[in-house]
Amino acid sequence: MAIARRKGSEIGMLTTNPFDDDKLREECGIFGIWGADAAASFVALGLHALQHRGQEAAGITSFDGKHFHSHRAMGHVAGNFDRDDIIRRLAGRAGIGHVRYSTTGETALRNVQPLFAELAEGGFAVAHNGNLSNAMKVRRTLNRRGSIFQSTSDTEVIIHLVATSDRSNMLDRLTDALKQVEGAYSLVVLTDEGLVACRDPLGIRPLVMGKLGEATIFASETVALDVIGASFLRDVEPGELILVNDAGIRSFSPFEKIAPRPCIFEHVYFSRPDSIAEGMSVYEVRKNIGAELAREAPVDVDYVVPVPDSGVPAAIGYAQASGIPFELGIIRSHYVGRTFIQPSQDVRLQGVKLKHNANSALIDGKRIVLVDDSIVRGTTSVKLVQMMRDAGAREVHMRIASPPTKHSCFYGVDTPERAKLLAAQMGVEQMRDYINADSLSFITIEGLYRALGQDRDAVQPQRCDACFTGSYPTTLTDLAEKENGSPLSLVASR
Ligand code: AMP
Repeated sequence: MAIARRKGSEIGMLTTNPFDDDKLREECGIFGIWGADAAASFVALGLHALQHRGQEAAGITSFDGKHFHSHRAMGHVAGNFDRDDIIRRLAGRAGIGHVRYSTTGETALRNVQPLFAELAEGGFAVAHNGNLSNAMKVRRTLNRRGSIFQSTSDTEVIIHLVATSDRSNMLDRLTDALKQVEGAYSLVVLTDEGLVACRDPLGIRPLVMGKLGEATIFASETVALDVIGASFLRDVEPGELILVNDAGIRSFSPFEKIAPRPCIFEHVYFSRPDSIAEGMSVYEVRKNIGAELAREAPVDVDYVVPVPDSGVPAAIGYAQASGIPFELGIIRSHYVGRTFIQPSQDVRLQGVKLKHNANSALIDGKRIVLVDDSIVRGTTSVKLVQMMRDAGAREVHMRIASPPTKHSCFYGVDTPERAKLLAAQMGVEQMRDYINADSLSFITIEGLYRALGQDRDAVQPQRCDACFTGSYPTTLTDLAEKENGSPLSLVASR
């Protein structure tokens, strides 16, 4: 993410402001490994498996026991990190990496992670998945004390807080820094004392630990372990710091214990279906969501049609639970990026056309129910319902595998400002009319928890579901300041 001043300020341009514009913010994936020859090649493979979490830029920093080496680039992992010359330069048996998702405006290389600084005690590289909700305020304080920032990334405040901490060792300095930030952070940190992985006390963003021979690995999702043939050991616990070096693996719990609030949207959309998140198969959970949806919102149609790819597992669950045939009524081209990566509304509309096409021979004369994971702006739904009608569908119903997205995320999932969220502006019937569907239903929040094997009413709080409920698990210092007229705006998350 990035931080910027509004007009007339000296910090400069900003690209992805969640409050002021329609530009999108980033989401991210991280990977770290300690104890493998040619560590950077494993990092590159791991990042490749996490590419869905961030498509704007990628970076790797390695440590060879003496020196740190770094390469950061705009674009995908493939094309940047499948080059032998680059991987060879990233020497060493330890490395961390980052993929970043953002769309437009200032795509400056200075914000691409891992961020690196030479601190008094040695090199410090960090890759961050999440978003700090008080970064702007902390940054202002640090600025006044003389910290000179090199990027507009929220993550950089962590480096400055570590640099200025008076604690005696690296872990204590990092802990000291993290106690001063609020929001979501899953981090991998590489220093000459070892590799550190940690998750914020609420465990908002995921982080898993794995093993490959002697090497220890951390990654945002288990798919990144699968791709290198590593075995999954366990989740990094909320509030846990794990230090790995040649002396072994040590776990620390320096934060006061609080009830974890892992992000529910990871299960709905963000994680890859072949990942295991919180001990559950993401694919199975999504099928469960579809089955719950079929029970909550049945409809009499000929086919269940998924919006590919994100709606596929939920549509399978819906079809299995309802007994209605599952059919591919929409074919997706895999050669265009996600709808979301288009910078303007016009181009986004164009993007949807490029991405999806109706399977007219199947659809013509049929009643169908489209299943998608979420409605954000409504762009996809409007286009696809019309596309189905143009292809001759007699009835087009829509079922959504998440509750209405009414609130922005400040913890690292890309959602636009509230005003652009369709469900923040309209009720369900108005939305149905807007997307021109014969019927529209969203799974209830209770149904979504049931699909995760939880009774929402039994234990509170259980997870972060702020995008659906508006119940944010941390204070939102920067947002509150912004609403009170502060000139600084926090921008972008990951
Ligand atoms: P929209 O067209 O704005 O309503 O966006 C809905 C589509 O975007 C759905 O098909 C989702 O699969 C996808 N989507 C939902 N959340 C995100 C996100 N955070 N980043 C990228 N795509 C998303």
